[in-house]
Amino acid sequence: MIIDAHVHLFPTKEVGKEVVETIKQQSGCDYYSCGTPEEYLEDMKKAGIDKGVVLSFSPDHQLKNMNFWTVAITRPGKSKPAKYPMLIPFVSVSPTMKGKKPLEELEHKLTWGMRGVKIHPIAQKFAPDDVRMKPVYRWLVEHDLPITAHSGKNIIEDEYAGFGEPNRWLSVLEEFPRLKLILAHLGNGFWEQAIDIAQKYKQVLFDTAVAISQIDSDTTLDDNEAVEMIRTIGADRILFGSDYPWINPAGDIERIKGLKISQNEIDGILGGNAAVLFNLR
Ligand SMILES: [Zn+2]
Repeated sequence: MIIDAHVHLFPTKEVGKEVVETIKQQSGCDYYSCGTPEEYLEDMKKAGIDKGVVLSFSPDHQLKNMNFWTVAITRPGKSKPAKYPMLIPFVSVSPTMKGKKPLEELEHKLTWGMRGVKIHPIAQKFAPDDVRMKPVYRWLVEHDLPITAHSGKNIIEDEYAGFGEPNRWLSVLEEFPRLKLILAHLGNGFWEQAIDIAQKYKQVLFDTAVAISQIDSDTTLDDNEAVEMIRTIGADRILFGSDYPWINPAGDIERIKGLKISQNEIDGILGGNAAVLFNLR
């Protein structure tokens, strides 16, 4: 089973194109597609991906619309099946979101089938150790649900860049030792901090997006570095994630399959570990 644990999708080609183009203009970062569910489904088929985790997040003013859309496309209706049952929805909250408070939003989206939370501390402009997020972490522990957080360097470097450092999770993990944190991008350049957290907090997981990829960015590990990182953290704690629509998942899967690690470890990273996390087998 192959599970892509790091996917971003947009309701229409126009919306997706606007997002990826805006980021390209700001950062020079190229993209692979516009990120509609239809496009991703095609790429899932081509790459043999069984499930994709949709990590929904956006600025405060669009947060609830995106959450709503993300759960709506993955839940069955009264008399019809879910439109995209192969997608696993993660929703987002922020301390400054308008209207519903974070916990109200989480409770509501839980009844609609959300399976976890995604935050991007840099883009959403709050630190992981912001005290206003404590109730959210407590809620996640109580409900035994995971949270994926962008970690490390961001494609846009602004005054909030420091919020991406894995170390900003230390006090949170100290207070919530059972929080199922998934640090995206293996720390994206902040490798030592990621390793330090992995060694101190055994429940923390990591995803491979950008860090172990066929793309060639300055935070993409070479084969030897990737294997060393996997060996240090433990293959059973690493989830394959593509960061679609920026990256074509098929190429990343090939890259992981080509690493000099055991078949068991490859299978775990590509989907076995996520299947355990989401109780899929
Ligand atoms: Zn991402």
